[in-house]
Amino acid sequence: MQQFPAKGSYMEMLSTVGLRREHLISPVFVSERPANEAESMPGMPVTPAAQIVSRVQSIADTGISSIIIFGIPKDRDRNGSAAYDRNGVVQTAVRKIRAAFGRQISIITDVCVCQYNLTGHCGLLVKGQVHNDSTLKVLSEVAVSHAQAGADIVAPSSMMDGQVRSIRSALDRQGFSTRILSYSAKHFSSLYTPFRSAAFAKKGIIDKSSYQVSFSNPKQTLREIETDIQEGADMVMIKPGLAYLDLVRAVKDRFDVPVAVQNVSGEYAMVKAAGKHGWIDEGEWKALSIASMKRAGADRIISYFALELADLLPE
Ligand SMILES: [Zn+2]
Repeated sequence: MQQFPAKGSYMEMLSTVGLRREHLISPVFVSERPANEAESMPGMPVTPAAQIVSRVQSIADTGISSIIIFGIPKDRDRNGSAAYDRNGVVQTAVRKIRAAFGRQISIITDVCVCQYNLTGHCGLLVKGQVHNDSTLKVLSEVAVSHAQAGADIVAPSSMMDGQVRSIRSALDRQGFSTRILSYSAKHFSSLYTPFRSAAFAKKGIIDKSSYQVSFSNPKQTLREIETDIQEGADMVMIKPGLAYLDLVRAVKDRFDVPVAVQNVSGEYAMVKAAGKHGWIDEGEWKALSIASMKRAGADRIISYFALELADLLPE
């Protein structure tokens, strides 16, 4: 039987495609609830706000210096108001991390309302429909509150039209030069479901097809990217990762801004589940799938494997 490569070989594979720790961004789940771990995301902790500094220290110890924070509030309401509370879970975590690590850690914050409202949708509902423009106001408030807390980069992920322009002007009005990483092309997919169970959102698949992009419409993906750049995005993102690498390359070739890829929770869950059963070699798949994202042109890769990959990279 063929032997899978040893750790040293993975290290070589990843180095050959140019992957370094500074390309990796580690997601961090910070919660107002007790510590836990979603069954579908083994090894990915949900950290109470009180323990956030030690969680980030464990990331910094691997040599990764960039994190993206997703907040899980204790309570949800119709308007997702905990998302822009000055003392909300993300705002508190950002202040603590900034105080403990200074500029050593680059802090990105997810800007959306889906973890904070009752429906789990990325927009607020008016008459049962996601309402674009009323959501924009809330997203801008969320972004400003994250900037006030000390975020370096805000990452709007709701896919509302005009979200980047609205956030950029709100930040400018308040005098913040905080940069924007736009989730420009978030493709409708069941691959976000493990994240939602970790974030205590509604169970199962929520139909977000009215505002997320279809896999069958690559032209729309490119239009979304172009619009976000025109509206002031400093960096754009495509998610999920593996199924969209042709578009990562197209964006890299066509536009002049850094491109991030999010290797999403479902991609992580599939590898972990198959690895656990011995159906695939987890280490090999981790290395080659992330290498493929780098090869396709990703400047930054957000991955739940970030810490494990850092262990495979040369010092
Ligand atoms: Zn959302």
